[in-house]
Amino acid sequence: MKRVLIVEDEVKISRLVRDYLHQAGFDVLEAADGVSGLAMARSHKPDMIVLDLGLPGMDGLDVTRQLRATSSVPIIMLTARTDESDRIVGLELGADDYVDKPFSPKELVARIRAVLRRADATLGGAEMVRVGDLTIDIPKRRVIVGDKEVDLTSTEFDLLLILARQPGRIYTRAQLLDAVHGVSFDSYERSVDAHIKNIRRKIEPDPKRPTKVLTVYGVGYRFSDA
Ligand code: CA
Repeated sequence: MKRVLIVEDEVKISRLVRDYLHQAGFDVLEAADGVSGLAMARSHKPDMIVLDLGLPGMDGLDVTRQLRATSSVPIIMLTARTDESDRIVGLELGADDYVDKPFSPKELVARIRAVLRRADATLGGAEMVRVGDLTIDIPKRRVIVGDKEVDLTSTEFDLLLILARQPGRIYTRAQLLDAVHGVSFDSYERSVDAHIKNIRRKIEPDPKRPTKVLTVYGVGYRFSDA
């Protein structure tokens, strides 16, 4: 049974999400603030964290930052904020996805399943992708650059895999979003940019002058076929 930790200070929302997740067959933990959320994440090792951004004291972005220092547990952010920049910052910090409040609990459950599927995906068989000094071990979901393993979140891994499997092929932001979400929800195309930025920071010698994941201006991205 997959375990989901909900970090949300609004009791009504937390209970609603908990009840839906219970019905959907998840084990559920709840925390009402960032500090106890972090502590529970560390002691109970959930498979997924649903994290409200607007928390008293330590906010959701701080929680994400601290979690990502030691863990790649999938994170879905809940945000009531109209400002797009918080979502982008959260994605840049390594959150996997976000759901805007007010949200449908059904949609949240579908998103959780989609992110967990990605985290679990083995895509069958012993399969490796090798491009230049980059090696992707698909069944083990490991990425090696040169002789160094790099730690990607599951969304970053999936995006890199899509791009690296067909070097030179141009993908639009919308295509990349579709490919990683599996379920079609309207998401901001700019979230792709945030994930690409993270990937570059992790795999490029100079993230400002990328040689692997290349921007196709006005269109999207492609993996270098040089
Ligand atoms: Ca809140």
